[in-house]
Amino acid sequence: MQLTRIAQTLLLTLVASHAGAATMDSARTRIAEQAQKLEPELLETRRDLHAHPELGNTEKRTSELVAKQLQAMGLEVKTGVARTGVVAILKGALPGPTVALRADMDALPVKEVSDLPFASKAKGTYLDKQVDVMHACGHDAHTAILLSAAKILAGMRDTLPGTVVFYFQPAEEGPSDFIPDGKNTWGAKMMVEEGVMKAPKPDAVFGLHVWAGVPAGQIAYRTGPTLASSDDLRIKIHGKQTHAGRPWDGIDPITVGAQTIVGLQTVVSRRTDISSYPSVVSIGTINGGTRYNIIPESLDMTGTIRSYDYGIRQKLHSDVRQTIEKIAESGGAKADVTIIEKYDPTINNPALTEKMLPTLKWAAKDDVVQGPLVGGAEDFSFFAKEAPGLFVFLGVTPRDQDMSKAAPNHNPGFYVDESALVVGVRTLASLATDYLYGNAAVGK
Ligand SMILES: [Zn+2]
Ligand SMILES: [Zn+2]
Repeated sequence: MQLTRIAQTLLLTLVASHAGAATMDSARTRIAEQAQKLEPELLETRRDLHAHPELGNTEKRTSELVAKQLQAMGLEVKTGVARTGVVAILKGALPGPTVALRADMDALPVKEVSDLPFASKAKGTYLDKQVDVMHACGHDAHTAILLSAAKILAGMRDTLPGTVVFYFQPAEEGPSDFIPDGKNTWGAKMMVEEGVMKAPKPDAVFGLHVWAGVPAGQIAYRTGPTLASSDDLRIKIHGKQTHAGRPWDGIDPITVGAQTIVGLQTVVSRRTDISSYPSVVSIGTINGGTRYNIIPESLDMTGTIRSYDYGIRQKLHSDVRQTIEKIAESGGAKADVTIIEKYDPTINNPALTEKMLPTLKWAAKDDVVQGPLVGGAEDFSFFAKEAPGLFVFLGVTPRDQDMSKAAPNHNPGFYVDESALVVGVRTLASLATDYLYGNAAVGK
C-alpha cells in the first residue's frame, strides 16, 4: 500500500514535471516565433518613442501610447499611477504565481547628436528651464520591449498558469519639475508607495536595462548587489564675512570647505570596510564668494554618496556628517549637512538569479556574461525591495565596434543597435513564462 502510494506520487511528480517542462518549452517556442514576427512593430514603437521623448513626470504622450496598446491587448489597465505611470494586469486562465515586469518611460535633458531619421528634436522643461530632450538612457527601448512582451504574453493567456503585471513607470531618472527634498518621491518609489505591489502581490519582479559598451544582444548580469545606492549630499558652511586682507577678523568658510573636501576622502579610505563592496563619496559643486578680496559669509557644496549595502550606507552617512561638522567646528565655523536618500542599492535576489539563469541563456542564445558592479543607480531597487528581483543589462553596442569607445548611457551620442531589442523581448517574456510554469509545476 505504502509502496503503491510512493510509486503513484513519483509517477504524478514525473508527469507534472514533464508537463511543466513541455509547456515551458512550448511557451519559449511561441515567444521566439512571436518576438521575431513582432520585430517591425517593436522597432516602429521604439522609433516613435525615441522621436518624442518626455522628461520625468511629464510622460503624457508616452503613457497614453502605452495605455492604448495595453488596452488593445485586452488587459486590465490603470493609468495615472504615480502621476504618469501605467499598470496592466494579465490574468492567465490557469492558477499560478504572479510575476511583475517593469519598464521606465522617461528621457533626459540631453541634446541628441545623430543623423538618425527619428533623432529627437524635442524640447522640454527641466526645473523651469527650456531644454533639449533625448532618450539618452534607452528607456524608449525598454518601453517598446515591454509592450511587445505584453502582447506576446496576452496571446498566451489561455494556457498561462498565473498572473503577469506590467509596470510602466515614470521618472526613473528623477523628477523634472522639482528638486528632491526627501519628502517628495518619484518613479518606482512613488508607485510602490501607491501600493502597486500589494494587489496583486508579485512573487518575483524582473527588469532590464539597455547598456552601451556591451555587445548588442548580449546579457550581462550579477547576483546580489548590482547597482549602487545614490544619496545627495548638501553642505552649507557658515563663516563670518570679512576683508580678505584681514582674515583674523572673520571666519573663512572657503578654507574650511577645502579641509572638508580633503577630510571627506578619508571616510571611504580610512573608515569604511571595503573588503566586500566599494563605496564612493564625491563632491560635485562648490559655490561661494563674490570677489577676490572678500572672505564670504558662507559656502555651499553638493555631492553624492554611493554604496552597495544598506549597513555600509548608513555608516557612511553618519561618518560623512561627523567629518563635515567637526572640521567646520575646528575652524570656528558651523556646517549644515543634509543627506537625501534617493535610490536604494539594486540587489538581485541570489536564489532567483540562479533559478532564472537558464532562461537568460535561452533568451540571449547563450551569450550571457557576468557584469561588473555599476556605479550608477536604478530605482528598480524599490521594486526589488518588495519582492525578489532580478535586473539585467542588455548590450546595445554594434558588435563590429570597439566596446570601449561606445558613447555611454546619458551621453548625447548614446546609440542603440536595434538588433538587440528582440533579445530584450525574449528575455522579459520568457522570464515571466519560465517563472510561472516553473512554479505552477510544483503544485502552487
Ligand atoms: Zn539613466
Ligand atoms: Zn536608465
